[in-house]
Amino acid sequence: MGTGYSVDLTGQKFGYLTVESFSGRRNGHAEWNCVCDCGNRVTVRQIHLKSGHTKTCGKGHQADLVSPNTIEKIQNRKVSKRSKSGKTGVTWNVALEKWNARIFVKGRNIFLGTYTDVNDAIKARKDAELKYFGHVEEEATE
Ligand SMILES: [Zn+2]
Repeated sequence: MGTGYSVDLTGQKFGYLTVESFSGRRNGHAEWNCVCDCGNRVTVRQIHLKSGHTKTCGKGHQADLVSPNTIEKIQNRKVSKRSKSGKTGVTWNVALEKWNARIFVKGRNIFLGTYTDVNDAIKARKDAELKYFGHVEEEATE
């Protein structure tokens, strides 16, 4: 006894989160250190992992798990609110202070990575357009 946890979740995957190590107990709740697929690290209560309540780092990244309509709304809101890339699928990640590149293909939102330079993110998106669509999309003027 004294480890503080009853089940070992190390290495287990919950949505986008992979459990790295036991964090400790706070207010009677076991908490785990997790790393998100986007690279963010978060500490999550065990009950939230097991119930499915928490599946991502929750920092500008939750768009991956919601419906396409909501994704568009979130992206539009973000782009207009913060830095504008001028490129569909390239949005500012507030938490990482980097550019997220993603593409929506056949009902799936594909994450293309995070980039410090917006031009790298746009290039990643264009490369993905060529790969998935066979051509680079024309940009709609706003
Ligand atoms: Zn994340």
